[in-house]
Amino acid sequence: MVDTTANTEKIYNWIANIPDPEIPVISIADLGMLRRVEYKEDKYVVTITPTYTACPAMKMIEDEIIEKLHDHHVDNVKVDLVYTPAWTTDWISETAKIKLRKYGISPPQHSSCSKVFGTEKQVACPRCNSKDTEVISKFGSTACKALYKCNSCKESFDYFKCH
Ligand SMILES: [Zn+2]
Repeated sequence: MVDTTANTEKIYNWIANIPDPEIPVISIADLGMLRRVEYKEDKYVVTITPTYTACPAMKMIEDEIIEKLHDHHVDNVKVDLVYTPAWTTDWISETAKIKLRKYGISPPQHSSCSKVFGTEKQVACPRCNSKDTEVISKFGSTACKALYKCNSCKESFDYFKCH
């Protein structure tokens, strides 16, 4: 018989460091996407809350989880996408926010910011920290990010949009 409790913990640790396909410097655990691993009806159920429903990256993450566990000879895996409660930028760990900044992405501000795009105020430049920035494009390198330009250092950067 398998000790399922020990295994759910192991499984969590095996997949916790899977990188986000959009921002490879941070993991799905850092982002707060990886919610839990449970053993239900002969299957390991991995619960993921997508950061953005429109992100095509979700399928990649799902495939990667299955592949990674397959490498550990665990094949009875089910990835559950759970949309409630909805993921918020508050779930991103502080460490992940520092990593984002180093990567040149301005970390999301508190989720209390306006959901209407264009009214997000004071997006700080990840390079020089200036608040004198302006949006160039509603969509940056991916649909989840917006492209900004810093008026201080003249660099452009991606801003991870608030949910
Ligand atoms: Zn700047």
